[in-house]
Amino acid sequence: MAGDQANPTGYVALTFDDGPGSNTGTLLATLRACGARATLFNTGQHATSDRRLVAAEVREGMWIGNHSYTHPHMLTLRKGEMRDELFRTQSAIQAAGGGRPTLFRPPFGEKDETLESLAAELGMIVVMWDVDSEDWNGATTEAIVAAAEGLRNGDVMLMHDQWATTIAAIPQIVANLARRGLSPGMVDPKTGRAVAPGA
Ligand SMILES: [Zn+2]
Repeated sequence: MAGDQANPTGYVALTFDDGPGSNTGTLLATLRACGARATLFNTGQHATSDRRLVAAEVREGMWIGNHSYTHPHMLTLRKGEMRDELFRTQSAIQAAGGGRPTLFRPPFGEKDETLESLAAELGMIVVMWDVDSEDWNGATTEAIVAAAEGLRNGDVMLMHDQWATTIAAIPQIVANLARRGLSPGMVDPKTGRAVAPGA
């Protein structure tokens, strides 16, 4: 039946960029309380400055993606600098116990063919989003909950690690998804679409 949480009819991917940071512990506790898993696009510099949080993300069942090392506008960089941003982040996340990411989320959603081919060389697909929470743009918790209503089966939602407004929205988002037969899943590293965990 639709809305049966044990038998979801579809999956969406909740993604949180820019961590880990001072709110990551609260984010993880909130996701745990909701029984939800998410994809966390970490920057290399943050993964390096707080390795224990990367390990905590893994322990809580999250999937970890690459979000560049210093969060630059990637398309302003030379090819070698672009590669460096990707490669150093893979190394930083691996060193922190986060595994070897297969997903890359470009800062500001800025990508081109060069960036996509560099990501592919490192075993990653470029993952964008279908629904933008606008949390980075000052969206209220209510507005973030409302944005999630636009998610359909397979869709990916952009959120960020550092906003209390976003974290406060998670319980209602997960409850509303369940009512619509949707469950938080993972991003398929082949297609960039949301699928069942472990699919
Ligand atoms: Zn970002």
